[in-house]
Amino acid sequence: MTYDKIITGGTVHSDTSSFKADIGIKGETIVAIGADLKGTAKTEIINARGKDVIPGCIDVHVHLALPFCGTVSCDDFDSGSRAAACGCITMVCDFAIPGKDQTLEDAHRTWLKKSKGISAIDFSWHMAITNKRHIKEIPAFVERGLPTFKEFMIYESEGWNSDDAMLYATLEKVRRHNGMLLLHAESPRVLDLLIERAHTPAKMKKHGARLHAMTRPNFIEAEAIERAVHWCDVTGGRLYIVHMSTGEGCDIIRNAQSRGVPVLAETCIQYLTMTDERFKEKDGHLYACCPQIKKAADVKRLWEALEYGNEVSVISTDTCSFTREQKAMWEGDFTKIPMGLPGLDTMVPLVYTHGVRTGRLTINDLVRYCSTAPAIIMGMGHRKGRIEPGYDADIAIIDPKRTVKVDWKRLQSRSDWSPWQGEELGGFAHTTLCRGEYLVKSHRFVGKRGHGKLIPRMLPGA
Ligand SMILES: [Zn+2]
Repeated sequence: MTYDKIITGGTVHSDTSSFKADIGIKGETIVAIGADLKGTAKTEIINARGKDVIPGCIDVHVHLALPFCGTVSCDDFDSGSRAAACGCITMVCDFAIPGKDQTLEDAHRTWLKKSKGISAIDFSWHMAITNKRHIKEIPAFVERGLPTFKEFMIYESEGWNSDDAMLYATLEKVRRHNGMLLLHAESPRVLDLLIERAHTPAKMKKHGARLHAMTRPNFIEAEAIERAVHWCDVTGGRLYIVHMSTGEGCDIIRNAQSRGVPVLAETCIQYLTMTDERFKEKDGHLYACCPQIKKAADVKRLWEALEYGNEVSVISTDTCSFTREQKAMWEGDFTKIPMGLPGLDTMVPLVYTHGVRTGRLTINDLVRYCSTAPAIIMGMGHRKGRIEPGYDADIAIIDPKRTVKVDWKRLQSRSDWSPWQGEELGGFAHTTLCRGEYLVKSHRFVGKRGHGKLIPRMLPGA
């Protein structure tokens, strides 16, 4: 066997174990794992002695160049994929959201245009169902390798919201055609009422951006998850709650799973590392994302879920970056803040630092939540999420001794601020390979624009 590249001397981590091994790569694929692999004169040796070698991480929840809240999120597939690569991520899943009167097919074409020839890392997207006519397009998209769909219980103003009937009908359809529904779960009617009550000049003057959190108490998310779990239970259609932010959510998912309801949940890095105290800061409005960051008790419960339970399966970013100038559009009105945070550069470093370095998680847990589980759950577990012969050579190498102080100026994201500015983080990529090609070398982005491919997916059990 000849190899194009051999990664030697590193400690290889899977979702369940860690071991010393060399990795042989030919073309885009891992072809050998073993002790002392031998190359030829042409083989490139990547020395990983003293370093952690993990499968490329996968962020299954990003919004790149998304028209939203009256503007367009500032990271696209160019800057977003560069940021991802520097943060150990080798594939992202975006959400293709149809415009008014558009079909899923139209949305799919728009997202192809945004990504193909631009993204340095691999990609796919979930198809957003914003109209009941979209439901009949589900089988065709499952067939072509896009088996995951998204619905929003809120965002009536964007024209994206689904009611219970659409949820129910979509879950029936995904059950029949082996798809899965991803859901933004917040209770729209009560949320609207609370926002309407708070949306007065006096209250806005008094509380500012804090109203964003004050109008979204935990029961807004909890009631929505509970209702969705009910429709999931009676239809048997697979459901995945995106960006779960509350302790109540964890309890509901745990309970549902114990009854055999086919529901999974993800949380995002912002819900594990920040609380709504941030809204009290000067420029607190910058931290507005949706759902908003919650309380210390929620942060604690979400970490417990990761440490001991199964109720949270995946960590993602929900990246939707806006610059300071874009965020300034709010002008004191909490309902006008572009909602979203940057995060692709820093997700894996934050899990590494707050999870692995503190001992709360093992590095195998990091691999599970950021690579293996998202790969399996979203239908690319046959070629991504593991370092094994036959798998794509998507690999990140971390120097465990290196710590970096976060400075947005040195990140690849186009955001001109970072929620984690000044934090000391380990876990940035020393080396990143995507299908055998260098994206990052000695902590420097060297990837090629357009290297990334649309990866066809098929859910387990098909
Ligand atoms: Zn999102």
